[in-house]
Amino acid sequence: MTHRQQQAAFLDRDGTVIEDAGYLATLDDIRFLPGAILAIKRLNDAGFLVVIATNQSGVARGYFSESFVLDVHEAMNRQLRSHGAHFDGLYYCPHHVDGSVAEYSRPCECRKPKTGMFQLATRLLGPFSQPSYMFGDRESDMEFARSADLRPCFIGSHRPEIGDVFCHAASLADAVDFVFTAR
Ligand SMILES: [Mg+2]
Ligand SMILES: [Zn+2]
Repeated sequence: MTHRQQQAAFLDRDGTVIEDAGYLATLDDIRFLPGAILAIKRLNDAGFLVVIATNQSGVARGYFSESFVLDVHEAMNRQLRSHGAHFDGLYYCPHHVDGSVAEYSRPCECRKPKTGMFQLATRLLGPFSQPSYMFGDRESDMEFARSADLRPCFIGSHRPEIGDVFCHAASLADAVDFVFTAR
């Protein structure tokens, strides 16, 4: 069985797609950043596979449960679908080496900047055609991008400290705009 390879757009979640609330407490705290939903729809419509890759160490730290993370992702997907947009995959790492919940307290190959979530997505959705992209607001997102051979797109007002990035923009909307303009 073959399928047409598609480009991938990996997105960090907190601070990139939705407001970084520190650690989300309730579903009511989910706020998409300005222009983010439309940016995701543009990626969908252009044939990109859109994949969330998010570290959720709040699970290991005992701030919320893994089922809460799943509820957040379901709520995000519902909101996206009401705008004709969607995620193709939502992956998260609930682990942290310094956690307080025993079953989640360990180092993990899925925790960014390690590339476990990229490898999982590649198995389930890939392989991806080039160029593919990673959008994120942390240095660890940019390191993840480089290790996974994704073009690093940095979202934020300060200058990224780690090497060169493909794109540096104030928002996901602006970064996606840049990607489409650069093609
Ligand atoms: Mg972030
Ligand atoms: Zn993990």
